[in-house]
Amino acid sequence: MAECIFCKIVKGEIPSAKIYEDDETYAFLDIAPVNPGHTLVIPKHHTEKLGSLSDKQLGHLMHSVNTITKAVEKGTKADATNVTLNNGEAAGQVVKHVHFHIIPRFKGDGLKPWQHGKYEEGEMKKVQEKIGKFIA
Ligand code: AMP
Ligand code: ZN
Repeated sequence: MAECIFCKIVKGEIPSAKIYEDDETYAFLDIAPVNPGHTLVIPKHHTEKLGSLSDKQLGHLMHSVNTITKAVEKGTKADATNVTLNNGEAAGQVVKHVHFHIIPRFKGDGLKPWQHGKYEEGEMKKVQEKIGKFIA
């Protein structure tokens, strides 16, 4: 199987526009930006989904995401940012290596927000219980 493209970026085997690097984290510009400055933040350790990272790895990653988000906002003079992660294929994850998207947003940039739905009578309570029982 071909090696993960983001692992190759971490190793320098594929070029990238690096924004930040430390022992555990690598950040670089998305090659097809939603807006200029769209940055990807990844753990150097390969894993597909967020839930596979240890609490320590997650803590480090989130700290980096927060630091880089502030830099992206300042550097692009953005009004705001979307900080998102597609956690699995059905959620739109194409590259199977955990990555946060930091997307600079500008007033009136025309990007559409999520579409919202609604619950049927009693459905919200059932969903609340279904999710809640998996949280220790
Ligand atoms: P996702 O759809 O969440 O898996 O996002 C993958 C992202 O990786 C997309 O936004 C791509 O534009 C981006 N991408 C793919 N290959 C590269 C690359 N070589 N350098 C930078 N970004 C890339
Ligand atoms: Zn990888």
